[in-house]
Amino acid sequence: MREKIDAARALRAEQCGANAIRRGDCIQKLKILMVEDERYLAEAVARILEKNNYDVDLSFDGEDGLDNALSGVYDMILLDIMLPGMDGITLLKRLREDGVSTPVILLTAKGETEDKVLGLDSGADDYLPKPFKTEELLARIRAVSRRKGELLPEGMLAFGDIELDPGKLTLSKGRRSYNLTLKESRLLEYLIANKGTSLSVDSIIGKIWGYDSDAEDNHVQVYISFLRKKLAGLDSCVKIKNIRNVGYVLVLE
Ligand code: CA
Repeated sequence: MREKIDAARALRAEQCGANAIRRGDCIQKLKILMVEDERYLAEAVARILEKNNYDVDLSFDGEDGLDNALSGVYDMILLDIMLPGMDGITLLKRLREDGVSTPVILLTAKGETEDKVLGLDSGADDYLPKPFKTEELLARIRAVSRRKGELLPEGMLAFGDIELDPGKLTLSKGRRSYNLTLKESRLLEYLIANKGTSLSVDSIIGKIWGYDSDAEDNHVQVYISFLRKKLAGLDSCVKIKNIRNVGYVLVLE
């Protein structure tokens, strides 16, 4: 049985389907961890996701889920809230405390709306009320992976022809790269996470400098111009556009 599954996976990997991503020189499918104690539901969802060319691992309790999630090998986690061993919110908090930033979609049952709010405060990226339709789940997964940029290992973000490593503070295109300051890196990370959406100067100040800082509009302008120079230096197709009276948006040209 196991061999059969592995063979099917290998065949699908060769076919490099729509949900594959580039990692180094090879193409791999997005890896999803689903933490859900209702086995029937978990296995049914796993089958659907695998059909849609995702790689899926299942955990049926909170502690196993946390162990798996901490491995950092997943591109996304689907997380139930009511779980034996450890509840989903605690699991999520532990994950974020440990610096694991894997996108998390919370699966909330009826009557768990307060948990939903708590979950988003605890670092979830989205939530999906149960029962959900397959199309809805697939759409949320796509939306969250898009928001996070193309998902690359070790917190790397990619957009267009550039890659940002927020850990090493480097911006690169192919073999060429620039070092970034922490603020430049955080600003570019924020723009990539919201690519195609205009960000107001106020929201940029709030995100990068903090709402109680005395940073002003010209601070944002200065850092945008630093990033633009580096993008131009890399001859990148990624541009930061200024939308008059609105703010800034990251686009491909
Ligand atoms: Ca449950």
